[in-house]
Amino acid sequence: MSIKNNIKKFKEKLAGTNCKLIAVSKTKPVSAIMEAYDTGFKDFGENKVQEMVDKHSELPEDIHWHMIGHLQRNKVKYIAPFVHLIHSVDSFRLLKEINKQGEKNDRVIPCLLQMHIAEEETKFGLSKDELIDLINTEEFKNMNHIKIKGLMGMATNTDDLQLVQDEFKGLRTTFEDIKTNYQHHSIDMQEISMGMSGDYEIAITEGSTMVRVGSAIFGARNYN
Ligand SMILES: *Cc1c(COP(=O)(O)O)cnc(C)c1O
Repeated sequence: MSIKNNIKKFKEKLAGTNCKLIAVSKTKPVSAIMEAYDTGFKDFGENKVQEMVDKHSELPEDIHWHMIGHLQRNKVKYIAPFVHLIHSVDSFRLLKEINKQGEKNDRVIPCLLQMHIAEEETKFGLSKDELIDLINTEEFKNMNHIKIKGLMGMATNTDDLQLVQDEFKGLRTTFEDIKTNYQHHSIDMQEISMGMSGDYEIAITEGSTMVRVGSAIFGARNYN
């Protein structure tokens, strides 16, 4: 197993689909990222602000950095100048802060709203009602420095493949609903970020446009 070969394998798997790979490099050294980068691959996901900032400063400028983890409002300012896509927008207060930092940096920051689709309470995300309420507020409609590019979700961590499939289907249905029924300048529904090492195949079948794959590319993580 090499990182290069794993990237190549995923490129082949995804060829002919509408799905892109986000290589989740959290806890992995910059050398591992460079091994993937050297194949021409540029989209990496991190879940901690400090780690992303450090890696961003050490690695090539043309890498697209995806924030996939729970994001604290007081840390948005550190990634706002360069982050490519924030997958994990799970509250209106967070979105407001991203908009504010987007304005300070004179840019529009692409975001996904994270929807809670799993049975586990521990996972972050908005319910469908909360999501719709958010995009219906006047305050949201006046935001000019964020763009909602789609939705992100994490399925329940289970062997019950039917449950995982149903959860991904639910995310897709909400995506289609918003895409069809809610149109204004801060919404441009393109992406459904769903699927990880253990469930990306189901996610692709259910219409994922971004799979976030870590261990199946970089190997198991060591959190010590
Ligand atoms: C860590 C992580 C992943 C990747 O997990 P793997 O099982 O290693 O593929 C995907 N999405 C999020 C939000 C993560 O935190």
